[in-house]
Amino acid sequence: MPDRTESESRKLLGRLRDTLADESAGQTRLDRITHLIADSMGTEVCSIYLFRDAETLELCATEGLKAEAVHQTRMRVGEGLVGRVARAATPVNTKDAPSERGFRYMPETGEEIYSSFLGVPIQRLGETLGVLVVQSKEERLFSDDAIYALEVVAMVLAEMTELGAFVGEGAALAKPHQQAVLIRGGTGQEGTAEGHVWLHEPRVVITNLVADDPEAERQRLHDAVDRLRVTVDDLLKSVTSTDKDQRDVLETYRMFANSRSWMRRMEEDISRGLSAEAAVEKEQSSAHARMGQVPDPYLRERLHDLDDLSNRLLRILSGQGRDTGAEIPADPILVARNIGPGELLDYGRSLKGVVLEQGSVGSHAAIVARALAIPLVINAARITTEALNGDPILVDGDQGIVHLRPEETVTKAFRDKIAMQAEAQQRYVSLRGLPAEAKCGTVIDLHMNAGLMADLPSLDGSGAQGVGLFRTELQFLVRNTMPRRSELASIYARVLDAAKGKPVVFRTLDIGSDKVLPYMKPNEEPNPALGWRAIRVGLDKPGVMRMQLQALIRAANGRPLTLMFPFVAQLEEFRAARAHVDREIERERALGHPLPSELKVGAMLETPSLAFAPDAFFREVDFISIGGNDLKQFFFAADRENELVRRRYDTLNVSFLTFLQGIVQRCAEHGTPLSFCGEDAGRPVEAVCFAAIGMRALSMRPASIGPVKSLVRRVDLAEAKAVIDEAFGSGAQSVRAAVTDWLARSTA
Ligand code: PEP
Ligand code: MG
Repeated sequence: MPDRTESESRKLLGRLRDTLADESAGQTRLDRITHLIADSMGTEVCSIYLFRDAETLELCATEGLKAEAVHQTRMRVGEGLVGRVARAATPVNTKDAPSERGFRYMPETGEEIYSSFLGVPIQRLGETLGVLVVQSKEERLFSDDAIYALEVVAMVLAEMTELGAFVGEGAALAKPHQQAVLIRGGTGQEGTAEGHVWLHEPRVVITNLVADDPEAERQRLHDAVDRLRVTVDDLLKSVTSTDKDQRDVLETYRMFANSRSWMRRMEEDISRGLSAEAAVEKEQSSAHARMGQVPDPYLRERLHDLDDLSNRLLRILSGQGRDTGAEIPADPILVARNIGPGELLDYGRSLKGVVLEQGSVGSHAAIVARALAIPLVINAARITTEALNGDPILVDGDQGIVHLRPEETVTKAFRDKIAMQAEAQQRYVSLRGLPAEAKCGTVIDLHMNAGLMADLPSLDGSGAQGVGLFRTELQFLVRNTMPRRSELASIYARVLDAAKGKPVVFRTLDIGSDKVLPYMKPNEEPNPALGWRAIRVGLDKPGVMRMQLQALIRAANGRPLTLMFPFVAQLEEFRAARAHVDREIERERALGHPLPSELKVGAMLETPSLAFAPDAFFREVDFISIGGNDLKQFFFAADRENELVRRRYDTLNVSFLTFLQGIVQRCAEHGTPLSFCGEDAGRPVEAVCFAAIGMRALSMRPASIGPVKSLVRRVDLAEAKAVIDEAFGSGAQSVRAAVTDWLARSTA
């Protein structure tokens, strides 16, 4: 039997296209298709098996096997040769099927007389919909060419949107993108939301699968790939940051964009009658299928890059931009592989939640999601592949879980949870005007962390007494050029206006480490978290810091001004930074500008070294704010961004609490006001412990103020201190168990 030539393949695709466009009933068309394929492939049998549910395949049409077996013969995924093709999503080609491992004889089909077997997966966007099989009596191995031809046919078949209708009466086919999917990721920002998927990078919809003029298609493909290469090169040139990950991705893009084998495979697809778009999608589909099977996360990532690149290529070919004309759904939940802070900010508060396939807790997107107070789940594997625009989706930011197209019962349970949270919020609202006064009478000041104008409405809503940490770097991170002094001054002035006299602590620029400004020259550093960052940059290259100080003084415009420097590691750094403030004050005075009515300059305590600074430090600073996120990472030498270690050590670990207690004592000795502004301040149990060891001011995200206040008001801090002391003496590693136990008893 001769191998199919390319022109025959094209002829077959042309006929298939006609059949697909035909008005006749679905089953008739499917039967005709099997006949056409068998005829064109020169085989006695051609059968189509489709998924009936997630685990079962059903024979839906055949040429050559017994007609009575149609819609009767079923097998489980992995069972028999057909099941093996479905499971592995790769072809099975054998000249002697009955002696093949796992062969299962189906007597009702009459297939025992056929010896050779070739099965290929029917795939769409990486999801296997079924299996296409040809069989013949003659004992022969199908050529690579024949396998290829059958794969191309399967690809066209996969586009039959109504495939599901072919599966037995009333049975719902496990169509792609229709099943419920649960994805476990990580928490980027707490909170829950119910809504509909809104894809940041929607998939391109292909309508022209089959083409008559391969030469023209090949030319289109070449032109598009040329444009793609230019785009990737431009992107690479524009990466001026130290973002190694982004560079890696773009380098991989470039590698794929120049890959001869990728191009060759797509050209072969075109020779067989596919359009340029369909050829790209076919290769994308097989990359998808491999993605699920590659155990090495690095390789999986690279396949993912190929997927992204294919999307870009499809956009060029089809002329479809991001804007596909789709309507933004109600309660949109943004789904993206990753997203920059500026882009996320552009979507703004219209979003109900965000789900990212990548991302990290400290990423800029996470910071923005926090500022917008919308739930964020990160590391949600395969979400961009699984989700389609408009799909119902539940986001559980508390547990880092996403339910895509959830079952009714899941949705109900989820709604109950949201209702309970709303009830709790209601309770917190009723506490809004009350102080965080413990039963023993001690009052804890609760402030909020902010970084964007978008945060400020929370100042009233949360009942915060002020802004304990305003992260000024966000204004620098969300734009493409360095902001001007006048722009900054007007933003800071608006922040002070919005605070309506409540105190705001501006933290000067904390860049470096993970916060790299897109418009500043990158600096390759082996350990950025321990590198040239924050005040170190400010002191070595004071231009930007001075500009920012001027902007702050001008924004205050005669009002009180409180600022603090991040990442101070020793007294001299604080002195040098303070000297810059004094110099700028003098300069503004000389210019005749109004000066702040009151000026407080503090330091963030984020490195253990500062806890052991000379007494002079505690006397000279106006206040200290513990940056617990960084302090904890350096105390335990555990990267706050690294999922493997970031939760390894408990904040309530005896060593860490003892260390914090030491800081409290030194501040008390010198009368230095102390606050804590890391994420841990917003966790109620941690907050109670901090208060118990003597901290009197905590700054946290606005949503945490209610829960923290509610707990503080129900406890006696002296009792809490006694529980902690006892736990210290008990040899426990952490006081958490003792404290939660006591809380359960005393607040019941
Ligand atoms: C901290 O380190 O705790 C802190 C508040 O600063 P950031 O999280 O911005 O580094
Ligand atoms: Mg910090």
